Amino acid sequence: MGIIRQPPSSWQPLSLLPLLLPSLFSLLLLLKVPTTPVEAFTLRAASVAYPIRVAFQGEPGAYSEKALRELLGPHVLAIGKPSFEDTFKSVTTREVDYAVVPIENSLGGSIHANYDLLLRHELHIIGEHEFRVEHSLLALPGVKKEDIKRVMSHPQALAQCDAYLRNMGVARESMYDTAGSAKIIAEQGLRDCAAIASELAGTTYGLEVLDSNIEDDDSNFTRFLLLSRQSISSLIPHSVPAKTSIVFITPDAPGALYKALACFTLRDIDFCKIESRPTSPQLFRFLQFQQRQMKSFGAGGGGEATMGTGDDHDLPRFRYCFYLDFLASQLDEPARNALLQLEEQSQYVRVLGSFPTKGQLLGPIRESLDLLAKESGEAEGLLMQKAAGIAARGPPPKAPDRLKIGVVGFGKFGQFLTKTFTKYHDVSVASRDDMTSVAADLGVPFFPLYEATEFFRQDLDVIVLSVSILAFEEVLKGLPADALRGKLLVDVLSVKVHPKTVMLESLPGDVDIICTHPMFGPESGKFGWQSLPFVYERVRIQDFARAERFLSIFELERCKMIDMSCDTHDKYAADSQFITHLTGRILGQQGLQPTPIDTRGFQSVLKLVDNTCRDSFDLFYGLFKYNKHSSDQIQRLREAFANVERQLAAKEAYLAARTEIMQDERKKLFAECRTLIREAVAQSTMNLPPPPPPPVSPPVSPPPATTTASADVDEDVPPPPTPTPKKAAARTPPPPSFIKPTPPPKV
Ligand code: NAP
Repeated sequence: MGIIRQPPSSWQPLSLLPLLLPSLFSLLLLLKVPTTPVEAFTLRAASVAYPIRVAFQGEPGAYSEKALRELLGPHVLAIGKPSFEDTFKSVTTREVDYAVVPIENSLGGSIHANYDLLLRHELHIIGEHEFRVEHSLLALPGVKKEDIKRVMSHPQALAQCDAYLRNMGVARESMYDTAGSAKIIAEQGLRDCAAIASELAGTTYGLEVLDSNIEDDDSNFTRFLLLSRQSISSLIPHSVPAKTSIVFITPDAPGALYKALACFTLRDIDFCKIESRPTSPQLFRFLQFQQRQMKSFGAGGGGEATMGTGDDHDLPRFRYCFYLDFLASQLDEPARNALLQLEEQSQYVRVLGSFPTKGQLLGPIRESLDLLAKESGEAEGLLMQKAAGIAARGPPPKAPDRLKIGVVGFGKFGQFLTKTFTKYHDVSVASRDDMTSVAADLGVPFFPLYEATEFFRQDLDVIVLSVSILAFEEVLKGLPADALRGKLLVDVLSVKVHPKTVMLESLPGDVDIICTHPMFGPESGKFGWQSLPFVYERVRIQDFARAERFLSIFELERCKMIDMSCDTHDKYAADSQFITHLTGRILGQQGLQPTPIDTRGFQSVLKLVDNTCRDSFDLFYGLFKYNKHSSDQIQRLREAFANVERQLAAKEAYLAARTEIMQDERKKLFAECRTLIREAVAQSTMNLPPPPPPPVSPPVSPPPATTTASADVDEDVPPPPTPTPKKAAARTPPPPSFIKPTPPPKV
């Protein structure tokens, strides 16, 4: 199935408005308070109407800031962070919107710390920039080159200007940062000292450039990544060359890496970089946990979590993560298939991001930058954006603060969604049944579905379809087509490819589409939606502001936002959600009842039955009928059941055979014992003194010969044989100790 990647036409990030206050506050502080070495804010243009906050590592004027400015232009608010870790964290915690971090240098190689941080943080790469590192010699105004006695900078910068410094014959002082050196010279008024740093650092700290391009090697480039909380993979048009970064862990087996790479080479997908990094047992555990979480939510992750379940000491000390960059979007058909194949044979796979190559920017960031440039009275072209193939657009429409949302389908889930939507927006609802009183309880107007025209007179911005999977197509096609034009249509079905296909087939091109699956319901979300997974795909968007505003409901409710294609969703959902419902339904058929001795495990089984059987059968049937992967699951369950039955039968057969063998062995042992005893008895009888001559009268009873047998001897022990002559008996050994010698008969 073809994936639609549409170029955005306009976007205004009003959804970020609530986040602006802290930035403005910081800005006010900036005007009064000098920047600290730990955190610094740099605003180079007047536009603060909509600041885009971007974090980088280092002091203001650092090379990272220069790269950031080359990529994003002069109008963004650049925020220096003391470490790479803090830079990543500031995006994750929403303190800033984006981060720019170096990932590799043409002379120094990969920046491993940032590879590790990419793995630990759930951020997406949305752009890259190759930055030429040009070192300048900076000094206080009026200082001449011949006044300089020492030069301070970061050790790497000093090393890269080795020939130049030797020529100068000056002392070298290593500092924590290039821009930091410039700052110290400015702050301490050092007139015998120069710094090696960027020209930007000179401008930032009021230093003069004594010499430019003083590096020994002019092929010094650093590649920077632009990171965001939102992926832009679905927004890359096919005409734009794209790159994808992934990370994966192969099983510990011969040829595993070769097979992993073959997933791409067999489909003619070019790699441009591969890097391996050892992972600690702790990180390995974390990835395992993360993957299990994703699996249990039926989203993300990828591949079976087969990384063992023991303690950290069970894990090999060295496991390797492979980072691979390939030249395609993750949504291109061959790349999608390659990734699916890789997931099947790897223990962990994650896409770190698909993004346009060569410093192009797309999606929300691009729209925001255009807007900023316009506000600053500058031409759009100034932002270094070649953006070939992306048509120039008019001013983006403003999304209203409160959207008008119409919910179609006011059943269990429609009511649940409406309750939260009303916190942020104006909601109207429509349903087949008369739900006037339920709607009134939630404070929203109700419209019968047969009066859809009345419903659409509400001038709705967004229409959310919350009807059963089975009725979806019928309901969508029954809505007045004209009334939908220019609106945003959102479905919340528990299957995703089906509604996406139906909407793309039947809606006019000017209708925006987002396919979503809130992976929770009235039960799991009754205490709020925090951390609950919300899967979505922006299928076709023209009005980005409205789309983001709608999605921000789930962000503000602190859902775990999972941007995922409908296709991938269905694959994971069959593995997790459908199997859960199927198991619940099967056990429900068995009529399980609580008992007085319920274990916790059994209680959770009863809960599963209750939760799944309480949902409508239509929902269950919809999960089966409209997810092509579901029938595979039934087949696999059947096979698994048969396997378990076979295992039980095999165990029984084994135990029966073992018992039989043991009985045979016992019989043999008894038989041997009997023979031994007989021999022993025979021996002891031979050792007896010859019997006395028979008395004349009265007659005497026979000696108690059989009392010699031990209690173990059966009744069939033969009578003692006729005594042999004493001579022969003298050579035989004494009887075993457990045989009591028969006392001589008393006369
Ligand atoms: P459901 O049984 O899947 O759907 C019930 C809703 O569909 C009711 O509003 C019903 O309207 C409407 N409907 C059914 N047939 C219709 C038809 N022919 N014409 C018009 N409307 C029709 O139960 P649900 O739990 O409310 O789920 C709604 C949607 O949300 C489903 O697509 C489901 O996959 C999705 N979802 C549910 C959950 C959950 O936890 N329940 C979680 C995530 C997503 P009437 O009331 O008028 O019959």
